Amino acid sequence: MNDKKRCIAILSSGGDAPGMNAAIRAAVREGIARGCRMLGVQRGYQGLIDNEVIELELRSVSDTIHRGGTMLYTARCDEFMYPEGQQKALATLKAHGADALIVVGGDGTFRGALDLHRLGVDIVGIPGTIDNDVACSEYTIGYDTSVNTVIEMVDRLRDTAQSHERCSVIEVMGRKCGNIALSSAIATGATAILVPESEFDYERDILDRLAFTRSMGKRHFIIIAAEGIFGERQRFVSSANMASAIEIDTGIPTRTTILGHVQRGGSPTARDRITASEMGFMAAELLATGRGNRILAVRNGKVCDLDIEEALAAERSFDFSLYHMAQELSL
Ligand code: ATP
Repeated sequence: MNDKKRCIAILSSGGDAPGMNAAIRAAVREGIARGCRMLGVQRGYQGLIDNEVIELELRSVSDTIHRGGTMLYTARCDEFMYPEGQQKALATLKAHGADALIVVGGDGTFRGALDLHRLGVDIVGIPGTIDNDVACSEYTIGYDTSVNTVIEMVDRLRDTAQSHERCSVIEVMGRKCGNIALSSAIATGATAILVPESEFDYERDILDRLAFTRSMGKRHFIIIAAEGIFGERQRFVSSANMASAIEIDTGIPTRTTILGHVQRGGSPTARDRITASEMGFMAAELLATGRGNRILAVRNGKVCDLDIEEALAAERSFDFSLYHMAQELSL
């Protein structure tokens, strides 16, 4: 095995996710343990273009494992989507003597990393996004924390919905992906779940379910909806709009809560800290021993590494059997 020492840069990109810090910490500590120089790039690919690079030592990552967000900041960067931006990013890496890069983010971040790999940079990608929507991996860092936050919020909303015999429509994150909605709906016993992956029929999926559960004695109702089911070309433009329709059509007082960015923040759960630590460790180990071109993933419950092109070719699937189970249990 090639054991050449090297300079490794690390960045976080796309939406932030709890556990990103734990991944950065582990990569920095393991990289240094293996004699590598570690650099942090701030603000994702934008920082790579703008040369926002800092030296990371063992103590630079102290006191971060329990913190949400990302100590390296994150950004979305349109300039990096084009060859000129990628050349600027490459020039920054070269100027600092780095020929390897760890990226923590979602599919978009990995597509950018593939472009850099094609320009000669050794890459390892770590899946970090609250949506759990990276096709090649069963799990992405941040998902467990996010779902647990949603559960806590829904439990609180349920108390008040129960006291007032109301219906509570709760909008959670997920523009194209209903995983947060599905997991939190199962865990909170929501009466209805609306996800972008399944065609939504207002009469069947809301009105009929409310009428049936009401006839069976239910007096308060939780509806969890992923944000992606609302919009100009959808049946309802917003969750508020849907809530007023429900109130008019059923007579049940109905309130809306959009959970928003609370779902992104907070101290990471044990699962996120541990998975992130394993992935950060493995990323540094791979690059320190001359192996790049990898995306880390959880497969059959274990952290493993996949070829980047193979990983990006994977197609995302939605767990319809869990979805149908949730529908059955919520009656
Ligand atoms: P999340 O799903 O949590 O938001 P993500 O990594 O999928 O994470 P994106 O906003 O899709 O988030 O991507 C992050 C950044 O990666 C983009 O701002 C852009 O700089 C870069 N990127 C995305 N797609 C590509 C692409 N096809 N080619 C090159 N770079 C890309």
